[in-house]
Amino acid sequence: MAGKIGVYFDLENIGGGLDVEALAAQTRDKWGDLTPVVRVVPLLAKAVESIAADIESEGLDGVLLCGASPRVDGDLYRFPVQVEHVNLREQCVQAYKNPDNSPVGTEAPELLTIMARDYVNMGVVKLQKSEVPDSAAITSVPRILVIGGGWTGLTAAMEAAATGYEVVLVEKAAQLGGAANNIPVGSPLASPWTDKQPTNVGDKIKAVTADARITVYCNAVMQKLEGQPGEFTAVIAGEGGPVTVQVGAVVLATGWKPLESKYLESMGLGQNPKVVHAAEFGKLLLTGQVTARRIAFVLDTTIAEEAISKAAAEAEATEAADGEAAAPAEGEDKGFVKSDLESIKHLRYSNAVNSVGMLRLANTICEKTNDATQTFILYKDMTVPGILERFYKQMQDRLGLMMTKADVTEIRDAGSHMVVACKNTLLGMDFDLDVDMVVLPTGLVPTTAKEVTVGFDYRQGPDFPDLELFDGFADSNYICFPYETRRTGVYAAGCVRQPQTMDACEEDARGAVLKAVQCIEAAGHGVAVHPRSGDTSYPVFNFVRCTQCKRCTEECPFGALDDDEKGTPKPNPARCRRCGTCFGACPERVISFANYNIDQIGSMIREVQVPKDFKKEGPRILILACENDAYPALDMAGARGKSWSPYCRVIPVRCLGSVNAIWVSDAMSKGFDGVMLLGCKYGDDYQCHFVKGSEICNRRKENIAETLNRLGVQPERVEQMEVAIDEYDKVPDLIDGFVARITAMGPNPFKGM
Ligand code: SF4
Ligand code: SF4
Repeated sequence: MAGKIGVYFDLENIGGGLDVEALAAQTRDKWGDLTPVVRVVPLLAKAVESIAADIESEGLDGVLLCGASPRVDGDLYRFPVQVEHVNLREQCVQAYKNPDNSPVGTEAPELLTIMARDYVNMGVVKLQKSEVPDSAAITSVPRILVIGGGWTGLTAAMEAAATGYEVVLVEKAAQLGGAANNIPVGSPLASPWTDKQPTNVGDKIKAVTADARITVYCNAVMQKLEGQPGEFTAVIAGEGGPVTVQVGAVVLATGWKPLESKYLESMGLGQNPKVVHAAEFGKLLLTGQVTARRIAFVLDTTIAEEAISKAAAEAEATEAADGEAAAPAEGEDKGFVKSDLESIKHLRYSNAVNSVGMLRLANTICEKTNDATQTFILYKDMTVPGILERFYKQMQDRLGLMMTKADVTEIRDAGSHMVVACKNTLLGMDFDLDVDMVVLPTGLVPTTAKEVTVGFDYRQGPDFPDLELFDGFADSNYICFPYETRRTGVYAAGCVRQPQTMDACEEDARGAVLKAVQCIEAAGHGVAVHPRSGDTSYPVFNFVRCTQCKRCTEECPFGALDDDEKGTPKPNPARCRRCGTCFGACPERVISFANYNIDQIGSMIREVQVPKDFKKEGPRILILACENDAYPALDMAGARGKSWSPYCRVIPVRCLGSVNAIWVSDAMSKGFDGVMLLGCKYGDDYQCHFVKGSEICNRRKENIAETLNRLGVQPERVEQMEVAIDEYDKVPDLIDGFVARITAMGPNPFKGM
């Protein structure tokens, strides 16, 4: 708890808009001994040494910097005491406008002065209620477990060993290499990216098995993973019985399995021996079983998609008409249902891999037969990632290869050959193509399903959660944090993360290994690995008042909390991502972080001077803004000269999931007229850094609305709005719209009570 705070005002960054000396004077008057040093400095960035000297000479235990947003230059100010920033530039001076939109004069407007004063007072109390977290450092095990010994897993093992860490590699098959064993010659893996390249997977296997730092278990699967990052215990079930190893982090490289052939039945797969999918064709090519001399590679699965949509709609209609009576018996083939439409999405996700793969396969067979084989790639979308475009261009000159965009409308067996009907082609005509063989794309389905389990010994169960939300892929945030999964310390790489080409899988393996290394180091230093990298705080529980309601354990998005048989939470600090969702959930408010807690934010809310006269002095609106998207969007809006109502006060929160209903009650009883919860988008293409905090907040808001209703306060006074980080041009209008609605509603009935 900071008891001697130095407050510094950055004249260059906030002067001109504000009477900074007057603000400093009011701070001295209000806070007295708590703020023994209050100084206005010409430029904060040049005052670092003098602030350090004040800390020393005055015995300060907290520093409050009033100037630019902490997102701008926060890293400049590293002192041996707690540091807080008051954002008086982007979200105060720059965002200010008069309520009636009249031009702002040269004198600091009264409302701006009031706003700045509120923010400074909130900053002081925030520091006053903040403590330095105790260390959560553990003795971290410098060993990485790699699950999956295919192309990605082998690369990960080699890269991890190259960093000096020990590696344990678990492979379920009898030999290493996985699907890469069927691809001796791949698409380009390196410069000049124009020609085929030997994959040399055998060399990778040799390097891995010869490396003394890597222990390989083949014919082995994971039985159990318990503990937390830095100190996991892995139990591996292998031929010689279970083996237990200590590891610091895990790379998940279990790869993919092909989409079931039933989904491409309407295109002949599994029905006609002349129709195969690309991965099968690769194996046939490898074993010299391809005798066809005219081959169509079809990169358009519209026929299958339409057939499944139709069958699913028919099944639904029949079920609706016949009810239970028509429901198939257990084990009976149900045909296609609506969820199959989700499964076939894997074909679209795999389009880039299939585009490159078909170029590779066509190239290989042409080369083997001196272009005596005629190959045709009929594509709806040719998706060639990045620099592999050069390979595509090279293939355009291949004598035996003809490529065209085409709608493939029918694939039929004409006895001696197959016919592929093509429409809307680049040749400007529709045609029927006679071929000996048809190659369809392979749907790469990630192997995070139940058959490849990591065996988490976690309260939330042995598997990754909610996989259906991510179509089975292992990420926890597609947009900002590749490699992350929803189990801290386990990093996904390769096709278990997303369908990708072999060169991309190698790059992915390196990325995941770096995350694993970072995780082990972070656990050793007792800091968060991501997304709040370097954060030393973690949730602390006051178990005396815990009612074992289990809300925190159930709502933690990352399975960081286990519990005992009674339901008392058992924290695992190294698994924790410091989002605060647990303390947002806790009805007893017994969870807190040393430097982010219920009382602290409640005190900040109470520090705002809410005027009694709504008509004359306007409403007051509290904005709790997620610091990952909403807060930076506000910063960018202010910096770009976009302004919003001066009746608002913004408090950043770690995640909307950390918003405890008591803060809304605090605001209402203080006399605020409205509360806006501003956070990330959620849903299928979610952005929430903590996966579902924003969504959880929305659910809790319904409970808040009920409470407000009971109290006779309009629930419309609390609104949640979604904003992405780049929507800075939209956010001022969102705020002003809310302020207008609240103004029309009139004052909070609790005002002045
Ligand atoms: S802070 Fe977030 S990750 Fe940590 S225990 Fe609480 S809910 Fe889980
Ligand atoms: S939410 Fe609070 S009261 Fe409920 S189990 Fe967790 S710590 Fe205990």
